Amino acid sequence: MKKQDGPAPRILRVDLTTGTITRERKDAAWGRKYVGGMGFGTRLLWEELPPETAWDSPDNKLIFSLGALTGTTVCGSGLCCVNTIGPLTNGLASAQTLGHWGACLRRAGYDILIIQGEAPAWSYLFIGEDTVELRPADWLLGKDTWETEDALKEALGLPGRRSSVACIGPAGENGVRFAGIFNDKGHLASSNGPGTVMGHKRLKAIAIQRLDREVEVADPEELDRVRRLWFDDANANTASGKSKSSGVRYVGTLGSLNMMNMAHLLPIKNYTSTEFPTCGNFNRDKLEEDPRFKWVRTACWACPWNHCHSLEIVDGKYKGMVGDEPEYEGMSATSALIGNFDDTAGGLALGIVIDRMGVDVKECGFLLAMVYELYECGILSREELDGLEMNWGNCDAGIELVKRIAHREGVGDLLAEGVKRAAERIGRGADEHAVYTTQGFAPHIHDQRSQWSRLAGFGMSDYGSNLMNPVEGFVDKENFGIDKPAKAFDVEEIVDHYVKIACHRPIDDATGVCMFYTQADWRYVVETLNAVTGWDMTVEEAKQFGYRMVSLMRCLNLRNGMRAWDYGVSKRWMSLPAEGEWKQPAVVTPQVQKQMFDGIAAGLGWDVETACPTAETLRRLGLEDVAPVMAGLDLTTAPEAVRKA
Ligand code: SF4
Repeated sequence: MKKQDGPAPRILRVDLTTGTITRERKDAAWGRKYVGGMGFGTRLLWEELPPETAWDSPDNKLIFSLGALTGTTVCGSGLCCVNTIGPLTNGLASAQTLGHWGACLRRAGYDILIIQGEAPAWSYLFIGEDTVELRPADWLLGKDTWETEDALKEALGLPGRRSSVACIGPAGENGVRFAGIFNDKGHLASSNGPGTVMGHKRLKAIAIQRLDREVEVADPEELDRVRRLWFDDANANTASGKSKSSGVRYVGTLGSLNMMNMAHLLPIKNYTSTEFPTCGNFNRDKLEEDPRFKWVRTACWACPWNHCHSLEIVDGKYKGMVGDEPEYEGMSATSALIGNFDDTAGGLALGIVIDRMGVDVKECGFLLAMVYELYECGILSREELDGLEMNWGNCDAGIELVKRIAHREGVGDLLAEGVKRAAERIGRGADEHAVYTTQGFAPHIHDQRSQWSRLAGFGMSDYGSNLMNPVEGFVDKENFGIDKPAKAFDVEEIVDHYVKIACHRPIDDATGVCMFYTQADWRYVVETLNAVTGWDMTVEEAKQFGYRMVSLMRCLNLRNGMRAWDYGVSKRWMSLPAEGEWKQPAVVTPQVQKQMFDGIAAGLGWDVETACPTAETLRRLGLEDVAPVMAGLDLTTAPEAVRKA
């Protein structure tokens, strides 16, 4: 082993079927090649899953993988990736969560936790100072995500920050396809249903005792120097914002609501309108002034920005409800998207129920929006909706519907399948009203039509509703050769920039640091990785890692049964809004989609017809062992088993 190979990743493996718990290590060269986080998770899924593994197969695995910097003193370094075959796409899910849970796992002495098999009875996993144990969890069933955390901490005698709990709510227990895994009251990994997989395995929660052990650092002095440079750069970076009413470091992502509305990026009434005149009432500064809402600060691991809060409704009809503060995604889902223009308390209450039932707010938001619209236009009747009056903006009906979805009761059983499948099953033209990607998931809560690059970012995403590469506004001449932002409707420029930065997101997720910090200068990111691990990585090697992961994710999904024609976006994504003025030059068309996808595939070294990385590309990226597997697949037909999944 070369010294610069750094640490050898430590794996804790829990087999739920047999109850066996083992510890093992990958070698250090493997650790450097796959860096951490989504790199570890994606590679392990490639190595350990049989081809065409269905999300609900006992062969599927749930892999919690920490970034290279998770749990250190680096700002925002609480990130953990959750990787599995997800139920919305039956392809890769790789979702990220912050808070403290990942840092606690590292301090317990592990870099990767692999959950495999299926438990014979509901269980929870406890990781303590000298013990790792599966324990019965029947007594936790039915509890929401916050109640589960409180009950477990109390039972363990480890209140507050003395432990950290990751768990599922009723939605995960009941097989809702878009259930998330929630930790530290307000953080979650939810894209493409990792909580559904955890529930299918009958694992209700994972509780970790917080230990005082320091994370080993190769060069502590160098780390201290470079992490400060990184923080200063992130502070000055536009992504962190300079204004106290809009900067992420002060008010989270909710501060961007007004700006998103003005830029026509806010989705209004399920993409049918461009008018949201009362948007300002839902902005963070307005909500903070409202005496009905009480905000209590809750910090993420090692984050000096420390903007996270819990929120309690202390007056009015929702008095007593407590949950996570709304971020941009949650507030836009429960206001503009569902036609709620006035009821701030109702919107907040709906957001709290979504989190506490344990579902992904993006999928849930677009699902609710579709249902409101289908009710308004007469495709779904009140009887079909169990008597609920789903008029635009009716938050109480939305709250009741989310509870029914989480418990798969009545119409909730159909809707628990997610936007795409629910629209297909409703029929009667419902699909024309549904916003989703054809891989199977709903995108972030934006009006994606206002930025064509989103078509590529989500439509080509191989890991669920994560914006694969946010081309918009990206400028970095030094590291990526991009000296001005791509024009929003220029396909050639979008393709060019997308290919140049395709390597960015994997390294964000592999570092173990919040992406509000990883938008800083990459030289500091790479130097910090080296200080912690002892590597001598260059920016070029980090970029090579990113491209390696982009191609490996695609190969994993193709091996699992996805095909080139499975990628894309729904018809509603290509429609014009019926109400208000549409100020953009055009909407995307199937032709634009094809042009964009083909250009990106060619730029990444993929075969344009099959959207599969070529053997030469795989060899160049150090994935020689993957090439023969891909050569043995028939990429012109879809496997029968996967089509039915
Ligand atoms: S910037 Fe916000 S989300 Fe990121 S680590 Fe800090 S508090 Fe958490």
